[in-house]
Amino acid sequence: MVEIVANLHMHTPYSDGHLYHREIAAAAVRAGLDAIIITDHNVLVCGKDGYVDGVLVLAGEEVHDAQRRPQANHCLVYNTNAEVAPFASNPHKLTHEIARRGGLTFFAHPIEYGSPLSDDFAAIPWVDWDVQDNTGIEIWNYMTEFKARLWSWPAALFGTFFPSLVIRGPFKATLRKWDELLLNGRRVVAIGNADAHGTPFQIGPIRKIIFPYDYLFRCVNTHLLIERPLTQDVAQDKRMIYDALRAGRCFVAYDLAGRARGFTFTARSSAAQATMGATLHRHGATRFEVRCPGIGFITLKHNGRTAARKLGKSLEYTSVAPGAYRVEVQRFFRGWWRGWIYSNPIYVR
Ligand SMILES: [Zn+2]
Ligand SMILES: [Zn+2]
Repeated sequence: MVEIVANLHMHTPYSDGHLYHREIAAAAVRAGLDAIIITDHNVLVCGKDGYVDGVLVLAGEEVHDAQRRPQANHCLVYNTNAEVAPFASNPHKLTHEIARRGGLTFFAHPIEYGSPLSDDFAAIPWVDWDVQDNTGIEIWNYMTEFKARLWSWPAALFGTFFPSLVIRGPFKATLRKWDELLLNGRRVVAIGNADAHGTPFQIGPIRKIIFPYDYLFRCVNTHLLIERPLTQDVAQDKRMIYDALRAGRCFVAYDLAGRARGFTFTARSSAAQATMGATLHRHGATRFEVRCPGIGFITLKHNGRTAARKLGKSLEYTSVAPGAYRVEVQRFFRGWWRGWIYSNPIYVR
């Protein structure tokens, strides 16, 4: 398997973003990304798939029901070749139709707190949790977290100038919700993204592009394990990326806190082996191995509970219990223990 780093959620002027595909690709190159997926609101912008300066640019979409009040249920959609926004008012139908056509759906920023400072910062959570045909959920959306940190004008001012001091990790409620879905026996793939818009932020008298695309591309990303190195053949590379996403062969990382390339989480039971996203059929005990590219607080979660914890670059653990096992790593960065790496689960049966 080959690791690539991707960002799967961003906007252009086709909806409410600030830069076009080519300029965003240039920002991705500067940030060291391998692939980006553009997800404009309720519009699939076709004809833009391709390599730009070595970065693969793909078209996805962020679909929502624009008539709904209050706003809710933003859904990231990948690997479709037709407009699916007309299904937005019915999330059951939306996710079902897309799954039927071989596409992927992720609930975007499923838990949101919003900010009391402006109506523009209202919470837009996912509310229809009985929908089950989605591929997964976005456990960490940088801009969603930032918005939640704007709880007062002084906090907003501080966050505007020192964003890396306020960003801490996915919301606990989002991780709890994910664990709850996993406990019900579901496979739920987690992704993490920028949700970059690149637009100037107006907070009171301050007007500033706080989050240029390339800054956000150095922050929360999704690292994917694909079958072979990218070939520059768009159709083939696209297939490998969507195969990895569908399988949950990926992890979420806050790369600003330390480059997360090289993280691995594997399990072995007798002759059977598995990595993130896979199901392992155990014969006796299962041995888990975590390897980090730097020192962090590594936690192995089993069905939502902490099974093992260790400060260091690796962790090994043996268990006889079935269930969903996933890894969280916190890293000490800018004076605080911040979320760094969140693996997808290995499903032990
Ligand atoms: Zn959204
Ligand atoms: Zn968005």
